[in-house]
Amino acid sequence: MTSSKEFKWFGSPDHYVQGKNILLNSADILKPYGSKFLLLADKDVYKAAGKKFQDYLTENGFTVAYTEFNGESSLEEIDRVTKIAKDKSSDVIIGLGGGKTLDTSKGVANALDISNIICPSAASCDASCIKLSIIYTEDHEFVKYLFYAHHPILIMADTQVIAQAPTRTLLAGIGDAFSTYYEGLEVAKSHGHTLAGGHPTDAGLAVARQCADTLWKYSYQALEASENNTVTTALEKVVEANILLSGLGAEGAGLAAAHSIYDGFSVLKGDPDKFRHGEEVALGVMIQLVLIGTPQKELDKFIEFLLTCGFPLTKKEFHLDKVSQSDLEAFAKKSTDKGETIENMSFKVSPEMILEALDGVDAAVTRYRETHSIHPVFVDKVFG
Ligand SMILES: [Zn+2]
Repeated sequence: MTSSKEFKWFGSPDHYVQGKNILLNSADILKPYGSKFLLLADKDVYKAAGKKFQDYLTENGFTVAYTEFNGESSLEEIDRVTKIAKDKSSDVIIGLGGGKTLDTSKGVANALDISNIICPSAASCDASCIKLSIIYTEDHEFVKYLFYAHHPILIMADTQVIAQAPTRTLLAGIGDAFSTYYEGLEVAKSHGHTLAGGHPTDAGLAVARQCADTLWKYSYQALEASENNTVTTALEKVVEANILLSGLGAEGAGLAAAHSIYDGFSVLKGDPDKFRHGEEVALGVMIQLVLIGTPQKELDKFIEFLLTCGFPLTKKEFHLDKVSQSDLEAFAKKSTDKGETIENMSFKVSPEMILEALDGVDAAVTRYRETHSIHPVFVDKVFG
């Protein structure tokens, strides 16, 4: 019998709708999905956008209960919100917020087999479109990935809401999305496996290529728009890349070394903890490029792009200069563990190769900084 993993797979949510002020114009969009909604959002997001959204829906004839997200995407939180949804006989769970809120709403929808509508309040990662939740303990320790049979049924990305989020969230989303095509290329080369289930489709890789193309062209302008809290065409394009193209691309084209580097960071406690998923993934892209032997001229283009966006890329900027050698070795070991997506690389990667490539990135970026004047669009004091 042929394993289902040996077929090509492509998956996606039913619908993705994006635009300025979509939440306050969504009654017609939402009608087909139900009438009794449970809205999950944290206190700040509820204050900034959730309360108005709830009032709007109520005025338009929907029954909308609200529960405050406790801050962690944990099994306990999924259970708590599931009980509320059951008590209220909700037919739809709406997650409004960042990745953890959205992941919790996916867990609730899966437990009760009800519709899940996802409203990202920032374009900080591609969690919206992916049919899995990352589960943590109540103390923020990573536990596992929960994979579901179904995607969220509808994503509504309100660019007016997203433009008000801190610019660092958009930067992180760019890092997460930027990796998609370069990881997909490695998966295609190795005939590896994707998050969707089996081997990559041409559709998955085409979406991933468009994602990279958009980011090369529009990231600086989008970051500037975010700094000004305004919705421009460039911001619209980058939001679509970060949420939709990156999500479909990651599932349909697959992940390789860059995301394993992110997993490697999870063993480092304390200071390096301060960095976001997409920031670590951006460093992961650089490590992957050095691993595959990217020629210097091409590598410089990536360095110029990522530094101008505002990404940290050196060991110092990631505070890795303060990490002990044994912790660095644990980081490299975790990045290459069995089951990590680094197995999708077209050659076997050892922990030593990770540390050597990290040094290679550090040297190339340091040289580039010394020989070019960089004007980052976004600057954050947490970096280096
Ligand atoms: Zn990611």
